[in-house]
Amino acid sequence: MQRIAIIGGGTAGAASALFLARAGHQVTLFERVAQPTAVGAGILLQPTGMHVLDALGLLEPILAHGARNDRLFGTTAGGRTVLDVRYRHHDAQSFGLGLHRGALFSVLWEALKTAAIKVCSGVNISRIEQRGGQALLFSRDPAPGGSEAEAGEFDCAVIADGTRSDLRAALAIPQKVTPYPWGALWALVPDDGLTQGGLRQWFHHAQQMLGLMPTGFAYQEMTQPILSLFWSLRADRLPHWQEQGLAAWKQTVLALAPPIAPALEHIQRPEQLTFARYADVQMRHWHHGRIVCIGDCAHATSPQLGQGANLALVDAMTLAQCFAESSAVEPALALYSQRRRPHLRYYQGASKLLTPFFQSDSRIASTLRDIALGPICRLPVARQQMALTLSGSKTGWLYGRLRQSK
Ligand SMILES: Cc1cc2nc3c(=O)[nH]c(=O)nc-3n(C[C@H](O)[C@H](O)[C@H](O)COP(=O)(O)OP(=O)(O)OC[C@H]3O[C@@H](n4cnc5c(N)ncnc54)[C@H](O)[C@@H]3O)c2cc1C
Repeated sequence: MQRIAIIGGGTAGAASALFLARAGHQVTLFERVAQPTAVGAGILLQPTGMHVLDALGLLEPILAHGARNDRLFGTTAGGRTVLDVRYRHHDAQSFGLGLHRGALFSVLWEALKTAAIKVCSGVNISRIEQRGGQALLFSRDPAPGGSEAEAGEFDCAVIADGTRSDLRAALAIPQKVTPYPWGALWALVPDDGLTQGGLRQWFHHAQQMLGLMPTGFAYQEMTQPILSLFWSLRADRLPHWQEQGLAAWKQTVLALAPPIAPALEHIQRPEQLTFARYADVQMRHWHHGRIVCIGDCAHATSPQLGQGANLALVDAMTLAQCFAESSAVEPALALYSQRRRPHLRYYQGASKLLTPFFQSDSRIASTLRDIALGPICRLPVARQQMALTLSGSKTGWLYGRLRQSK
């Protein structure tokens, strides 16, 4: 049994706390938000992520809150198919689940309560020191001039504090964090049956992208299904978008995607749209002595491939499996880095390669995409590989597949 501190109560932190506590470890979860609540838009949960939630015994409530997405379908404004990826091209039973991030959060946090895991909310972990075979945690009051205090002594510290992690930055692991110039405005709107069977996107070059994803239900609000609406925007163009006003934006959107008019009716104020930015996080490996990084903190990417929550869930399950195979902390964490490498490297590489075709000012990239991607989606081998990629299962460009056991 190890005393394990987990820093961050998002998908990665909460899921790893559940797995590690179930394996008999003494887990303490630190979350900086005093009263964490269900926020965020829709995430696309892939079969790999659903497998992990099934192993935690949480798939049933997740399925009840989610919306089945069988397909990712994108066209130009003129109706030319740009992207058509269907899960069934990899496996007849396979599908993605559009899910409100808040529903995933709430299901995981309910499970933390049921498992009686020690959760310290409102604690901002500021520093970790490795000393005498222990990981010492310190917390700091985030107010200017706030004082630092010891938060505890542990055998292992799991950093799961998201993309903008100061704790990761302080580690002696070679790492690179590159903010994406592009982000997205998102909103949740009532689902009036606009999309059929999956995530629908409209593109104009790589500069404009509108996405609508069936997202299921907000947590325990099972009467009104919701859609997530995404509008791609370069971060430095946000002030111009704000100046332009909602009416002008709606005109642009309707010129690109006329069928979405009923969804736009639900957006009456600019504050209904939230701007999200992304960054690319690369680390040479994810462990350092008794410390390990998981989730977005370890490998955030652009959301283009819909993998953020899934990779975090697979991280959590793999970490617990490594502890089961190696009773000492440092070898378990080294094993973790080794096990996660092929899967994480593939998705980081694929995301980096694909993102400029969907979010950039490059006319060359968008023209190539519009000419080639539609026909490629119809080739049997290519469409199967694309469906495998979307489902979160690939660990290499040619053959590798993620092996998941319970
Ligand atoms: C507010 C929010 C909204 C999001 N919305 C979406 C969305 O709409 N769609 C989507 O696809 N993805 C969204 N994401 C990202 C998505 O949740 C993640 O890609 C995925 O779930 C992996 O999460 P994670 O646990 O690695 O990190 P995160 O979900 O970022 O969780 C990190 C947690 O660590 C806590 N934390 C940070 N620093 C400290 C510290 N020093 N001490 C203690 N705790 C700390 C944070 O408060 C947070 O709860 C959102 C993330 C956040 C935080």
